[in-house]
Amino acid sequence: MLYIGSHVSFNKDTQLIGVVETALSNNANTFMFYTGSNQSTLRFPIDKNLTDKAHQIMCENNIEREKCIIHAPFIINLANNSDERKYQFYIDFLKQEIDRCIALGINNLVLHPGSHVSVPKDEALLSVSKGLNEALKEGQNINILIEYMSGKGTEVGSTIDELKTILENVIYKDKVFICLDTCHINDAGYNLNNFDDFLDEFDQKIGIDKIKCIHINDSKNSIGAHKDRHENIGYGTIGFETLINIIYNPRLDNIPKILETPFIEDKSPYKTEIEIIKQKKFIEFK
Ligand SMILES: [Zn+2]
Repeated sequence: MLYIGSHVSFNKDTQLIGVVETALSNNANTFMFYTGSNQSTLRFPIDKNLTDKAHQIMCENNIEREKCIIHAPFIINLANNSDERKYQFYIDFLKQEIDRCIALGINNLVLHPGSHVSVPKDEALLSVSKGLNEALKEGQNINILIEYMSGKGTEVGSTIDELKTILENVIYKDKVFICLDTCHINDAGYNLNNFDDFLDEFDQKIGIDKIKCIHINDSKNSIGAHKDRHENIGYGTIGFETLINIIYNPRLDNIPKILETPFIEDKSPYKTEIEIIKQKKFIEFK
């Protein structure tokens, strides 16, 4: 089954209800949101009444909670532990973010593995696993989805091997998964026209069953550019056909696909992009 949705915004007054209503207005059957700004750790309390009402709306509209996603803010950086106080702050914030996911009943949390900055890469990868080991608890109903990065700057997690190292060193293996991103994989150096080769390698080293979400974005840059600049579907270097082949790849059936493409003159492109994905037919929209 195709689960297709997009990034949507979460605000203080309508919270999860606003998220669900936006997703429905785009004809999406999944969604992803940040519980506040993606650049800061400022967060407001989760309202239980709004959450309960949202769950009811989701139920009535066949949106399955286990296919929906929350994204942690970018500033959490578990890859650099050189400043102990900061590292601990990120771990503590991640714990709070996990509690928010549980309160919202959305148990998939995408997390960027972070940037190593001054720390050697192998140490940085261990530091990510160690941070996860501290943030997670036995018996918690949460999936952390480590995102495949483009390798911009000193980002870690831009190869299958690096992600494998992170997963190998986590204690709660049943709680840590992977989120792919087509723009990031392209920018990290893979040709997505050979996506089945990528999946073969991923399956052999990590296992396709570890993929819990895929961000669907075209890229403004060429293969291996390490830039991470998302483009609207069909307007970038990856192209519509290649993205459609990934979205409908039978090996990725039932895995939620989330658009994080840019707004066009302050307008959301998601309803149109979801429509052309469902039709598998490109039409000019900008
Ligand atoms: Zn991300």
